[in-house]
Amino acid sequence: MALIDLHCHLDLYPEPGDVVREAVDRGVYILSMTTTPTAFEGTRKLAQGARRIRTALGLHPELAAARAHELPLFEALLSKTAYVGEIGLDGSRPHRATLERQAGVLLDILFLCARAGGKTLSLHSREARPMLLDLLAVEPMAGRPILHWFTGSAREIRRASELGCWFSVGPAMLLSARGRVSVAAMPQDRVLPETDGPFGQQHGRPLYPWHAMQISRPLADIWNIPAEEVAAQLRSNFRRLSEASQELVDAQAVA
Ligand code: MN
Repeated sequence: MALIDLHCHLDLYPEPGDVVREAVDRGVYILSMTTTPTAFEGTRKLAQGARRIRTALGLHPELAAARAHELPLFEALLSKTAYVGEIGLDGSRPHRATLERQAGVLLDILFLCARAGGKTLSLHSREARPMLLDLLAVEPMAGRPILHWFTGSAREIRRASELGCWFSVGPAMLLSARGRVSVAAMPQDRVLPETDGPFGQQHGRPLYPWHAMQISRPLADIWNIPAEEVAAQLRSNFRRLSEASQELVDAQAVA
């Protein structure tokens, strides 16, 4: 049974090479994030020869204001990948002051993605969910948005779904009551597994890509269906997403 992690930061583990080796051994499908355009080539190199790992080109919202000068590099690298992330907005206290500049950077990125024919996007939205959805609505041709760790209300989730969004959910998100309430409102055919490792943690330890499918059990309780059915749904969702992406992650092989 295939393991899948749609959002993790391979380059930020203390021993990235070991994590990649183990992920390859276990056959995990991974969407590997980068936080800045300058990190992209190095992170992509980590996954060289790993056929189930795809590296996304990102500019993390916590860095977007300070690294806006990397947008030309982002533009230059964009044709090398069908995946973009981590991008988005962060309106939490330490980053609220730069929110307008973050929004400017995000709009530029969404425009570039639309001009490139659409990408698969992994988006951060902490304390900025309505604004993020507004920006996605401005540029609907940017591609397929995956809202990562999206702790929205039922109303926000409905709006996001109408905008074509997917939702990536990890074990750490399901540890909080708020996260569980959000997941209960998500359409089951739009949910994907993630870890957000090494930031996503469980029992005080970082999650690894092969842990993402552990959400099947808590989701089974929330959705009131058997865990095996949840796992099958998550795999079928991943297959559909992969088929919609320009660059197929040998989607047919996801058993
Ligand atoms: Mn992340």
